[in-house]
Amino acid sequence: MQFDLNNILRDNIKSLSPYSSARDEYKGKEGVFLDANENPFGAPTSFFEGNELNLNRYPDPMQLSLKDKLGKIKGLPTENIFLGNGSDEAIDILFRAFCEPGKDKVIICPPTYGMYEVSANINDVGIVKVHLTKEDFQLDIENILLAINETTKLIFICCPNNPTGNGVKWDSIKKILENFKGLVVIDEAYINFARYMSLIPELLNYPNLVILQTLSKAWGLAGIRIGAAFASQQIIDVFNKIKPPYNINAVSQKIALDALDNLDQVNNWIKEIVFERNRLSLELAKLNIITKVYPSEANFILVKTINANSIYNYLANNKIIIRNRSNVSLCEGCLRITIGTKEENEMLLKTLQNYKA
Ligand code: PMP
Repeated sequence: MQFDLNNILRDNIKSLSPYSSARDEYKGKEGVFLDANENPFGAPTSFFEGNELNLNRYPDPMQLSLKDKLGKIKGLPTENIFLGNGSDEAIDILFRAFCEPGKDKVIICPPTYGMYEVSANINDVGIVKVHLTKEDFQLDIENILLAINETTKLIFICCPNNPTGNGVKWDSIKKILENFKGLVVIDEAYINFARYMSLIPELLNYPNLVILQTLSKAWGLAGIRIGAAFASQQIIDVFNKIKPPYNINAVSQKIALDALDNLDQVNNWIKEIVFERNRLSLELAKLNIITKVYPSEANFILVKTINANSIYNYLANNKIIIRNRSNVSLCEGCLRITIGTKEENEMLLKTLQNYKA
C-alpha cells in the first residue's frame, strides 16, 4: 500500500511557518551573543560549577550532540531522531501533526499505556478501541484492519505492552504496517528488558513506522524527561516544525550526554532487573493469593489476584506502593508490580507472604 505523508499531514501544519529561534539562525559557539535577550553575566547559582553549563544561554534547540551520541548507540543518523520532553511529548506531537480535532481518529489496543487516550482527548481526537485478545494480550489483527477507515490517522501499539508486560507478534505488526496508510506508532519504552530486538531496522522498510523510546526506564533518567521518536527524516522534520523551540533544557541535555557514556552500567542493570523479574515471577506464582503471573518482557510484572483492592491497600499500609490495575478492562483483579532491587523485591515477597486473606 502506497504511503504518502502529505495525505495524513494536517493542512495547517503543512503550511506552517515554524518559529525560528536565535540559536537556529546563528549556530557558532564563539562570539558576542546579543541576539537572544539573555542575561550576559551568568546564572545566580553555582550548582553546576565546573561543568561548562552556560545556564544563562538558551540550549541547542536541535540537541545535535545528544542526538549524535544516541544515534551511534541506536544505529541511526541524527535526521531520523526527535527528542522530546519525555516520550509523552512525542505522543502529543503526533496528534497535533496528523489528527484533525473533531474529525480524525486513532486506534489504540487496550489494556495499554494511558497517555494515548489522554492525549487524544486533549486534542479532541476520536479513539477507536480494539482490545487485545483476552487470553494472551495479542493484537486482534482482524478487528484492527476492520476498524481502519479514511479518518484513521494513527495506530498505537505498545511493545512490550504496559500494563500487561508482553510483546506483540511481529507478524501482526507487519500486517498493519502493510495495510494501513497512516502511521503505525510502536512504543518501545520497555524494549531494553525484552528478549527480542527493537524494530529500528524496519524503519528502512516502512515509511509509515514511528518508534518511541525513552531514557526514563532502563537508562534510569526519568527525572530529566527525555524521550525519543525514531522515523523517516520526512516525519522527523514534521516533529521539529511543531516542537517548542527549546524543548529539552540545557541541564537535561548535559546529563544525558554524560549518562550515554555509561552503556555498560545500564546493561548490567538490565541484566539484574531481568534476573530479578524472572525470580520474582516464580516466587509470586507460589503465593495462593496470586492466581496468575503474566509473562513479562518489561521491568514490571502483571499478576492476577484474589482481591486486588485489599492487597493493594495492605501493601500501601506497609509502605510498599504498586499499581492497582483492577479497574482496567481485561485486567480485572490485576496488580502491576515494578521490579525493584533484590532487597526491595524481598520486602515485597515477605510482606505478601504475611497477607491474611
Ligand atoms: N510509553 C510507555 C509504554 C510508558 O509506560 C511510559 C511511562 N510510563 C511512557 C511511554 C512515557 O515515558 P516518558 O517518561 O518518556 O514520557
